[in-house]
Amino acid sequence: MTDDVQHHSLIILGSGPAGLTAAIYAARADLAPLVIDGMQPGGQLTITTEVENYPGFPEGIDGPELMNRVRAQAERFGTSFLFGEVTGVDLSARPLKLTIDETTPMTCDALIIATGATARWLGLPNENKLQGFGVSACATCDGAFFRDREIAVVGGGDSAAEEATFLTKFASKVHLLHRRDELRASKIMAERVLEHPKVEVHWNTVVDDLTGERETGGLDGLVLRDTVSGEQRKMPVEGLFLAIGHTPNTQVFAGQLEMDDTGYLITEPGATRTSVPGVFAAGDVQDHDYRQAITAAGSGCAAALEAERFLAEL
Ligand code: NDP
Repeated sequence: MTDDVQHHSLIILGSGPAGLTAAIYAARADLAPLVIDGMQPGGQLTITTEVENYPGFPEGIDGPELMNRVRAQAERFGTSFLFGEVTGVDLSARPLKLTIDETTPMTCDALIIATGATARWLGLPNENKLQGFGVSACATCDGAFFRDREIAVVGGGDSAAEEATFLTKFASKVHLLHRRDELRASKIMAERVLEHPKVEVHWNTVVDDLTGERETGGLDGLVLRDTVSGEQRKMPVEGLFLAIGHTPNTQVFAGQLEMDDTGYLITEPGATRTSVPGVFAAGDVQDHDYRQAITAAGSGCAAALEAERFLAEL
């Protein structure tokens, strides 16, 4: 290793609620953490609308505004930030080795992984082709393009309920397509969407194909299948929003850290320690259950406290 390789006592990967809360605690403990932002600085909350359930904001707060405030708090205590993405790791020896953006090597004594999760896609051949041409996984980003249009949302969880409700602000009609006959969304959000006059719910319905061409205005319809009767039918819509869950951003750690079969990092029960000493995981990258900003922030705090103890013992 050359002398110009940067060494940090603590590196935090990811700048969502988990990473930034870890940074606040670590910075206040004088660990001078470096946060590698990742490809979506601020994390998933930056593409959400109003956050109504984060304690301390009785009127709700915009996701991006909340993350700007948390970031400012982390900066205030001496956190450094680097815009970039971790593209390689070697956690088999000390110090821990990282590569940022394929080119920049770095080392650290302790590492907190808070790389979050990414929206899932259906995997249909035309989906990729029509992404950005009627097909989206972010209602907040793209909803306004569908003013007075008929659109569809796929999914049955809180995201689907939230996005379908949000999209009624713009669309003339929102079709909610769900593969089962009941929503898994929380009661309050399910009621909000089911009672909305602009929303029509299609139970036991999956999308088999998407029609339309980029060159001629993008998506123009869906081929749907009733999972009970097996019958196919067409639905003319100009927008399709996917809200079918997330995949943890852990590919770069494959073979180095223990993961479950869906790729979530495994941490010790009630703690953030991973299978490698000095490597901690916080937020959605290790939590497929709660996935809330507040639980991510809580685990970020725990990771910083555990990293601090680990570094003190070194
Ligand atoms: P979920 O995993 O909860 O729900 C995903 C939904 O997509 C399910 O209804 C699932 O169907 C469906 N689905 C998955 N794969 C496919 C597929 N290939 N084809 C068709 N449908 C599919 O994810 P969410 O993103 O909705 O929520 C994640 C977490 O975030 C939850 O804990 C949720 O409570 C939370 N959240 C909270 C919000 C809030 O409180 N404001 C807002 C948004 C999310 P099935 O039901 O059959 O499994």
